[in-house]
Amino acid sequence: MAYDSVEMSLREKLAETAIRAYRRGLVNGTGGNVSARIPGRNEVLITPTGVSLELTTVDNIVKTDLYAAPADPDSPYKPSKETGFHCAVYRVRPEVNAIVHVHPPYATAFSHRFQDLPLVAVGASAGLKRVPCIDVALSGSTELRSLVEEAFSKDRSIKALLMRAHGIIATGPDLVAAYDVADLVEGTARIAHLVVGLGIPVEEAVEVAFRPIPR
Ligand SMILES: [Zn+2]
Repeated sequence: MAYDSVEMSLREKLAETAIRAYRRGLVNGTGGNVSARIPGRNEVLITPTGVSLELTTVDNIVKTDLYAAPADPDSPYKPSKETGFHCAVYRVRPEVNAIVHVHPPYATAFSHRFQDLPLVAVGASAGLKRVPCIDVALSGSTELRSLVEEAFSKDRSIKALLMRAHGIIATGPDLVAAYDVADLVEGTARIAHLVVGLGIPVEEAVEVAFRPIPR
């Protein structure tokens, strides 16, 4: 396939990000999906359904419009079944240009509390501010898309969401930033798990992480 230079470069970065996420252990099997908005166009590139993120290539990435309709009818690959919620975020948050949706174990375990992720370290409190949790809904459903859309519209400062019994959605102005948010969310969940294991109340750890530090 021939792509213009802007699209080609974004396809390369998207494949690189998807492979990084897989190798970092943020996702297993064929789960998860990564997308990016093509600059200046109402089009989105997203990883294909049914293919492990580790096997993402420039040519199996799928292009859709901002309403999840495939833009290339000749492609043998189908867009991820979660394309609907990716597009919903791009529509409501114009500053978001990349989304990493993964199922990392510690953050997904914390999603079962159905509460905000406890931001127990200063890097997380400063970098994430708040990571709310949305309720469980079927993958690919209109209900899940609405829950995601509502969460990202209601609090326009959030960069990431926990999805109950499912995983996380991380966003950013570009693919590297969205990947870093996903990695920070999972790293923070790991620390929170260790804090709990040490017998320290998680609320106390959050309070310390948000306490203003005198200069
Ligand atoms: Zn998922």
